[in-house]
Amino acid sequence: MTAPASAAQNATDAPLARYEHLFINGAWVAPEDGSLVESIDPSTGRAWALVAFGGRRDIDKAVAAARAALEGPWGRMPGHERAALLRRFADLYKTRARDLAILETRDSGRALRESLADVGGHSNAYHWWASLADKASGRTIPFDDSVHAFTTRVPVGVVGAITPWNVPLMAACWKLGPALAAGCTVVLKPAEHTPVTSLELGRLFEEAGFPPGVVNVVPGHGRNGPGEYLVAHPDVDKIAFTGEGATAKTILRAGAETMKRFTFELGGKSPHILFADADLEQALNAATNSAWTLCGQSCALGSRVLVQRPVYDRVVEEFTRRAARVRVGAPLDEATHMGPQAHADQLAKTLSYIDVGRAEGAELVTGGNRLTGPAHAGGYFVEPTVFAGVSNAMRIAREEIFGPVAALIPFDDEEEAVAIANDTAYGLTAGLWTGDASRAHRVASRIRAGMVWVNTYRFIRWSTPYGGFKASGWGRENGVEALDSYLETRTTIVSTTGRFPDAYAT
Ligand code: NAD
Repeated sequence: MTAPASAAQNATDAPLARYEHLFINGAWVAPEDGSLVESIDPSTGRAWALVAFGGRRDIDKAVAAARAALEGPWGRMPGHERAALLRRFADLYKTRARDLAILETRDSGRALRESLADVGGHSNAYHWWASLADKASGRTIPFDDSVHAFTTRVPVGVVGAITPWNVPLMAACWKLGPALAAGCTVVLKPAEHTPVTSLELGRLFEEAGFPPGVVNVVPGHGRNGPGEYLVAHPDVDKIAFTGEGATAKTILRAGAETMKRFTFELGGKSPHILFADADLEQALNAATNSAWTLCGQSCALGSRVLVQRPVYDRVVEEFTRRAARVRVGAPLDEATHMGPQAHADQLAKTLSYIDVGRAEGAELVTGGNRLTGPAHAGGYFVEPTVFAGVSNAMRIAREEIFGPVAALIPFDDEEEAVAIANDTAYGLTAGLWTGDASRAHRVASRIRAGMVWVNTYRFIRWSTPYGGFKASGWGRENGVEALDSYLETRTTIVSTTGRFPDAYAT
């Protein structure tokens, strides 16, 4: 059922790649009550693959398999053996990284040069998680001679991993790594727009020799589909979710019924602060890239560029000049910088926000249009776009657009920069550029965000905790903090005397 990479590179009139099976309990099975759905190549607007979507009975089967694996060999497997399996998987992942990146690009439209850079690091991440698979130790708690008290860390149980369409393999890695290192089992539900690479992961887990049921992959819809069924399922212990805040609230309400554990990685509207004393060339490299990377479909996007007034005009000029250099086009061409938006609804959303920006009185200095020439026919391409003269009260500065739209907001001094940076519902990431080391620490410590970059941007590794303050989420992915969120703590108290007084003797 695997589409070879060569097929993925074929012209758009190639036969549809076929992914007609779900991965449940270590086997490739046809959906029991799901369907076959076309996956659209966003660079052409045409179907390129046919994919099995699961239904309620498929989720029931996947959850039962995950539970059985937890209570079976996987649940009894020592950490170092789980680590060995994860390492084997990580090595296989490395050998397939290029094929995976090509498929990710085909399904999501992300420029191949970006997919290669991202996917190329995942093997290291899985290796790092393997190194933690036997490290979840508890502690002893001193009290008095009458008891020995200690804690043990146990897997939280069956995890429903629900991922978004912008970075399917990365989002899967950030969940599968810590979940498997902790000893959990997983049902992975990728986004309906980008299901293919998650199914490919199933193949790698199979090849690596993971016991049946440890990882199951069931693509399909969120609402009225496997996403919703996973959240409601009484035998799922935790939902690890990446996606929109509105979806997270729906999931939170639905999951409350069965008291699930949650981690939520949600959206952002990150401030990227350029002080006049910064190395402006470097700051501009980072600010332009972080505004347009992934065609603007990144949660960590530096979409609010806060610029100190003495350098504001130069920054506007440079954004405009550099926008003209961005090569927007066929995402499988490694010379391409920016592919299309990942689906038609996202394209419509981005274009509508560009209209909002104009109507709010921001100055559209470059971009703003869908690209429709022969090189872009049928695809969901949009120009890298820059608005100047933006105030932080405007909707384009407050709401997550998820398109390549930079909002350049002027400020006078440090105090104002911090106030604007924090004046947002979100708190995922932030960046600041300055040549003053004291200011760097001072400002960084005042930003209400889960990740603050100083004189760099979007540096994220498996070992660095990532997640949001405020509306940007709950909990952290990556880092040892993530492992923690896949573990429960059991406290055991052992009497050293074996005596228990009769409360009713007198
Ligand atoms: P989305 O919320 O529409 O969908 C995410 C996933 O949830 C999909 O798999 C979808 O099928 C599923 N889903 C939808 N409704 C559901 C329901 N009722 N029950 C269960 N599952 C349901 O988000 P998206 O549009 O795919 O992704 C874009 C969003 O993700 C953006 O807001 C972006 O900022 C965020 N994001 C955050 C991070 C991060 O690490 N913080 C990373 C990537 C993306």
